[in-house]
Amino acid sequence: MAVPFVVKKNLLQSDALHGYILETSVYPREHEQLRALRDVTLKHPRGLMSTPPEEGQLLHLLIKLMNAKKTIELGVFTGYSLLCTALALPEDGKVTAIDINKKDYEIGLPFIKKAGVEKKIDFIEAEALPILDKMLQEGKEEGSFDFAFVDADKENYNQYHERLIKLVKVGGAIAYDNTLWFGTVAEPEKYILPEEVSQNMNCLVNLNKFLASDSRVEISQICIGDGLTLCLRIS
Ligand code: SAH
Ligand code: CA
Repeated sequence: MAVPFVVKKNLLQSDALHGYILETSVYPREHEQLRALRDVTLKHPRGLMSTPPEEGQLLHLLIKLMNAKKTIELGVFTGYSLLCTALALPEDGKVTAIDINKKDYEIGLPFIKKAGVEKKIDFIEAEALPILDKMLQEGKEEGSFDFAFVDADKENYNQYHERLIKLVKVGGAIAYDNTLWFGTVAEPEKYILPEEVSQNMNCLVNLNKFLASDSRVEISQICIGDGLTLCLRIS
């Protein structure tokens, strides 16, 4: 029998465990402007969309581990993951950040400025897909990105993948967010889902299947936040 669906910000087995991770390993190391941005974002009606801090910490670490200099982010919202990225990039690093809505980005901008990393950000207010197509048509950006973080509209993730696999270099990585979709992907029939949640679930189920079969990448499904799939471009 289907059960009511409850939105949760993480997939861990207990809230206590989630709290433990945050208190022990995440909050003590969180940049003060990240914390301030998180506090403001919590008051936003769609604040739940913001990247959870433990995941932001992982993105930050990944960028440093890879020595990434040039990255791209699809889906910025108020900029939590973007600020994590910009703080991880070297002084001459650049992140191209694309979102259809600049208003939410402007909520985060004062914190980005205070953190001193605005110069590393190139924000584009637009639909992501035509921008990626333009980059490919112009031919200059192919194979030039070290890292991509995809967190925009879930129905286009497959389309983004086909573009990003060309824009990210061999040896670079693409990370897809929300790939476990509140845990629904494992038991599609279990929950009574709102229409939009259900549509996105189907997109993510298809994406997960596709990525597992895609020989151009090596993958890992990371159980952090709402699920992050990390792909390394190998060909
Ligand atoms: N990474 C963000 C959360 C992104 S939420 C953070 O850490 O806070 C998803 C975002 O995707 C929203 O801001 C929404 O405006 C944006 N979005 C939705 N459809 C899009 C599209 N077609 N192109 C670009 N951005 C899109
Ligand atoms: Ca997300």
